[in-house]
Amino acid sequence: MPEFIELLDGYHRFRRNEYYRHRGRWSELQEGQHPPIMIISCCDSRVDPATVFDTVPGQAFVLRNVANLVPPYDTSGGLHGVSSAIEFGVTGLEVKHIVVMGHGACGGIKAALAGGDQGLPGPSFLDAWIALVDEPRDRVLADDSIIDKQTGLELEAIRQSLANLRSFPFIAQREAAGQLKLHGCHFAIGEGQLYVLDEESDAFLAE
Ligand SMILES: [Zn+2]
Repeated sequence: MPEFIELLDGYHRFRRNEYYRHRGRWSELQEGQHPPIMIISCCDSRVDPATVFDTVPGQAFVLRNVANLVPPYDTSGGLHGVSSAIEFGVTGLEVKHIVVMGHGACGGIKAALAGGDQGLPGPSFLDAWIALVDEPRDRVLADDSIIDKQTGLELEAIRQSLANLRSFPFIAQREAAGQLKLHGCHFAIGEGQLYVLDEESDAFLAE
């Protein structure tokens, strides 16, 4: 099983190339991070935001989860990993932008379309998580004008995550004050094409 050795080979390439070339920057980064952007994307191995947006270390505070979903503001307890990262990014780091990046052929969205039940025995974290898009899924399935249900729900889930972000008081306040901007994007893997949501027309436009 050579996979971990390949990973370490990659680390040594990083040390020789990226780290060596930019060691001044790495030394500065040691003092702290001030990323102007937060990106919320899927765990999917094909859609690494650092690759798609060609970012440098320190530029983007990145949160990844299954299907790049944001839960609504909820103070009822529980282990809110996603909400705590959002809270830190916005109130701690004071990011100026939050980008929700969905993507084509998303397995989480596919599971939601298939009914959201993985059929696994016992409780499923994934089933409960994917239920976050039950409402947009039902909307997309009922809308005859949406032929491609997979892409349709990928886009609708991004809109839903943006709406849920706005349910966090510290986000709504900063957006109203012009200190924070929210963006929706969708990355089509095969074409390598990014679409950006124009909230005025509610359309995703090719970048
Ligand atoms: Zn995905």
